[in-house]
Amino acid sequence: MRSFKQIIGGSLVDGVSTIDVINPATEQVVAACPRADKAQLDDAVAAAVGAFPAWKATPLAERRAMLAKACQAMLEQAGDIARVLTSEQGKPLAVAQEEVMGAAMIGQALSSLSLDDRTVGEDEGGQFVEQHYPLGAVAIITPWNVPVALMMLKVVPAMLAGNTVVAKPAPTTPLSSLMAGEILNRHLPPGVFNIIVDQNDLGGDLTAHPDIAKVSFTGSTATGKKVMEGASSLLKRITLELGGNDAAIVLDDVDPKTTTASLFEGAMANSGQICLAIKRAYVPDVLYDDICTELELLAAQAVVDDGMKQGTQFGPLQNRMQLDKVRDMVADAVERGAKISGGELKDGPGYFMRPAIVRDIDDDARLVREEQFGPVLPVLRYSDLDDAIERANRSDQGLGGTVWARDVTRAKAVAERLETGMVWINTHMNVNPFVSMGGAKQSGMGTELGQAGLEEYTQRRLLYVPAS
Ligand code: NAD
Repeated sequence: MRSFKQIIGGSLVDGVSTIDVINPATEQVVAACPRADKAQLDDAVAAAVGAFPAWKATPLAERRAMLAKACQAMLEQAGDIARVLTSEQGKPLAVAQEEVMGAAMIGQALSSLSLDDRTVGEDEGGQFVEQHYPLGAVAIITPWNVPVALMMLKVVPAMLAGNTVVAKPAPTTPLSSLMAGEILNRHLPPGVFNIIVDQNDLGGDLTAHPDIAKVSFTGSTATGKKVMEGASSLLKRITLELGGNDAAIVLDDVDPKTTTASLFEGAMANSGQICLAIKRAYVPDVLYDDICTELELLAAQAVVDDGMKQGTQFGPLQNRMQLDKVRDMVADAVERGAKISGGELKDGPGYFMRPAIVRDIDDDARLVREEQFGPVLPVLRYSDLDDAIERANRSDQGLGGTVWARDVTRAKAVAERLETGMVWINTHMNVNPFVSMGGAKQSGMGTELGQAGLEEYTQRRLLYVPAS
């Protein structure tokens, strides 16, 4: 295996120590990854601050050209990055390849955006013009479930807008982000893109660093609250993309077979470790047994194995802690009398859990109230649609949601009552790089993607220009 380096001020640098990155399918060490300390964090921030004036003064069209080239280069190296991603994250190789190529293509799409001045009002004396200018050094903090794509969809707009970056990936999946970072760095002036790795111990320092102007964070709601606290003393700008507990509401006119296949995929993709995964399904009485039986069949047929093996549909959970958390939540459901189908753990090494369908579960079970972030779908029965909507909304989180129905007008009326940042009808996780999105309630603050996502990395300035 190749060696991995952090990037500080344009140079590839070792850490002050290393961390072992573990393959979740084999529990073997994938590689020793450089680990920074507080002094290296300070160096990375200083490099980003130092590179900011020249980068900010570089015309946006030039910044765009460099970023687009970097994304193209990443596309060409997608195979290499994907193999490392599978070995550290666990997802099947084909899915890893899709993630890396998708990340590069999202980067290309986002680098095509602009920040033109806009006249937003006028009076007899002149015009009000809206402008956007960059903020400075931006901290980009990302989680372990979709590490490459989640980093790229932040760093590209941040740098396109004229900011410089200090990225910090999650310590269990840093290698693919370091590889993507090396490519970015090759196409950018030194100091514009910096990346360091910690062991879950530098996020607070990075967030609170006096020279960091903004923090863009994706991760759990609990950590998001710490980021907000750390950013508060200097009133730093923050974008928070946090946890979800997305409900799927199934109406009584669906075709159970096709809908079940979509529900299963929506809940189990990436072994359930997606913020926007379906995490609770509300199914009407008349379809409850049919849909549960069909879901159980799909769970029993699923191919769960090392992501490097051809034919693997679902890989392991990414880390031991996550596996233990999901097991605890399943145990809580069993204790409460719910019926579990699937969910077996694999003998031997690896953090494997087979997909599980949980029926006859009550609303107070942890699996319903909390984000499981694993391959377990609780299926809740309802007889009254208003009641199902009310139960779906009874959550502190409000990331996404789905409604499934033949009658789209009826589905739309239900969708419009869901208190979330995104709702899809008869499809799921349809994300478009030009369409901004973000979570409601404790699922986040601010938006990503599209024009609004780009403008999150800027300060809006209103300029009044008198008529000459
Ligand atoms: P996490 O919150 O544990 O970690 C996320 C990142 O924060 C890591 O890089 C971690 O090192 C860093 N961190 C740890 N302590 C910190 C601190 N005090 N200050 C700043 N940063 C700190 O999340 P995770 O377990 O890696 O990821 C899973 C969570 O991410 C789930 O809740 C999932 O729903 C959420 N997520 C949300 C989105 C979204 O777009 N809304 C996307 C993907 C994942």
